[in-house]
Amino acid sequence: MTAATPYTPPQKEIRFVLDHLAGMADVAALPGFEDASPDMVDSILGEAAKIAENVLAPLNRIGDIQGAKLGTDGVAHTAEGWGVAWQALVEGGWNGLPFDPAHGGMGLPNLLNTAVQEMWHSANMAFALCPMLTQGAVNAVQLYGSEALKDLYLPRMISGEWTGTMNITEPQAGSDLAATRSRAVPNGDHYLVTGQKIFITYGDHDLTENIVHLVLARLPDAPAGVKGISLFVVPKFLVEPDGSLGARNQVKCVSLEHKLGIHGSPTAVLSFGDEGGAAGFLVGEPNRGLEYMFTMMNHARLNVAMQGLAIAERAYQQALAYARDRVQGKPLGWSEGQSKGIVNHPDVRRLLMGMKARIEAMRGILYTAAAAVDVAHHHADEAARDRAALLVDLLTPIAKGWCTETGQQLASDSVQVHGGMGFIEETGAAQHLRDARITTIYEGTTAIQANDLINRKILRDGGVTANRLLDEIAALGGELSGHADDALRVTGAELVSAVHEARQAIAWVLTAAKQDPRLPAAASVTLLELMGVVAGGWQLARAAKVAVGRLAEGDADTAFLSAKPLTAHFYATHVLPKAAALRATVINGSASVMALSEEQLFGAA
Ligand SMILES: Cc1cc2nc3c(=O)[nH]c(=O)nc-3n(C[C@H](O)[C@H](O)[C@H](O)COP(=O)(O)OP(=O)(O)OC[C@H]3O[C@@H](n4cnc5c(N)ncnc54)[C@H](O)[C@@H]3O)c2cc1C
Repeated sequence: MTAATPYTPPQKEIRFVLDHLAGMADVAALPGFEDASPDMVDSILGEAAKIAENVLAPLNRIGDIQGAKLGTDGVAHTAEGWGVAWQALVEGGWNGLPFDPAHGGMGLPNLLNTAVQEMWHSANMAFALCPMLTQGAVNAVQLYGSEALKDLYLPRMISGEWTGTMNITEPQAGSDLAATRSRAVPNGDHYLVTGQKIFITYGDHDLTENIVHLVLARLPDAPAGVKGISLFVVPKFLVEPDGSLGARNQVKCVSLEHKLGIHGSPTAVLSFGDEGGAAGFLVGEPNRGLEYMFTMMNHARLNVAMQGLAIAERAYQQALAYARDRVQGKPLGWSEGQSKGIVNHPDVRRLLMGMKARIEAMRGILYTAAAAVDVAHHHADEAARDRAALLVDLLTPIAKGWCTETGQQLASDSVQVHGGMGFIEETGAAQHLRDARITTIYEGTTAIQANDLINRKILRDGGVTANRLLDEIAALGGELSGHADDALRVTGAELVSAVHEARQAIAWVLTAAKQDPRLPAAASVTLLELMGVVAGGWQLARAAKVAVGRLAEGDADTAFLSAKPLTAHFYATHVLPKAAALRATVINGSASVMALSEEQLFGAA
């Protein structure tokens, strides 16, 4: 078998963003995070990095080659070594990092958990999906479950003894959850759940003795559409009042999907209640399931956005190592004593810088959003909580859409840097591209994120929140455009221009929606990209400003810090100018998508 490619967690980069862009110290000072001392944060990051590098990364290739397989015993068996890796997470209490100590969690910030998740997703995305979904399920039960449900399920889900899943998709209900058909009929103290769910990540596996499925289903008298969907806990094995495992519930893994990537992650077709009904336990109130499930989905959306960053980081590390090693002729301007690696060919440098800059932009966006999640839940001041919640709401579709589309592009650029060897499976570069491909699809496709951005995040408040964020970005751009440092000056000026383009695009959306809702819908993904480009520039400008300031104060880490304004300059000159073209497409492009009939555009069916 081919050797696994190494992964080195970028701890210094992560630390810089945590401390200087996301405000780790401020987050740690919020009520409830008393245990998040600087020593604790250091120790968590260091230990998580070791697990990522030494335990999870070596299994990435094994998972890709062996995949998960449904055995004759009806159980989905994971690849070699995955069970041992899961046990390592359970023993370290890693699953409980952000959760309430009352149920066995560590009570640490979501921001810190985000940094841990980045490293684990980079190391092995197919594996990291399992803790990610389990954490999402814990969130939903913690927020909306009865005390009895919490007492019975949370301790073992938080410890990782049991895992969690998210059961939404059905054959006819993918993006359109109003079409959900699974049913739940009252039966004494529980419900009998019947139906089929497809594409369920870690829907079955051999890592733990029980699996807690969170399932969307309709009650018999439920109204049609999304307002008639309820949420149920349906365990694989029933749980006795003392917490011990009881009878096998009627949840059957019918098959596992054969997929383009993330082979190590079992994607299950699950059948519920083949012999009358699986025992399910209502979470919260009837008919509010979708609202509750959005708790899981929003958590998952930011985490899938993180997968875009994580896979790009892994692909970048591999591309950079290859480019330093591979020699093809003498790079232009080469002189004796210099490396002849293709890393010194101008276009390979462009590709690698494009990866590096976008990776840092994504990390800035995601850690800023993660810190805002903590503020939204923990700040003592209600107004501060509300402001942070609005920022999270706005950034979630932008982060999910832009970071996953970008992650995919960068995984492809990594293949390009490898040349033909990138297309050959043995190098591992191709796996990153295959694994990245799902990220723009699950947890809501890019189009669904863009619909959310336009309808709920822009049209609903007349563009107020989006324009408020743009005001903040423009203020930073204006400040930097007068700076003595050349790179900061260019970055500031380009940022101001890009914000101007975004404002025009938003103004058009607000007007066009009144004429015909199809017009902004046709422009929505382009607008999302434009907002992503601007948000990325914002974060790189913030990083560059901090770095230049620290250098001026005499910080001796010149190699690391002086790269920041150069990276921002690269982004400002290669990515931010795309804002003008994106704005033009938003404003002028919808007509060619929507003006003619289906037959006129594509011919007769
Ligand atoms: C590997 C994998 C793992 C998954 N894990 C889970 C899981 O754990 N739990 C779970 O419940 N589901 C899971 N899913 C399902 C996943 O969330 C869906 O595949 C996804 O939501 C898209 O639904 P769909 O496949 O039915 O595509 P469709 O909804 O049929 O979409 C097809 C195309 O139409 C577009 N489209 C659809 N509606 C609109 C619209 N209103 N506006 C604009 N464009 C639109 C989409 O953007 C897409 O391009 C997983 C899927 C895969 C492949």
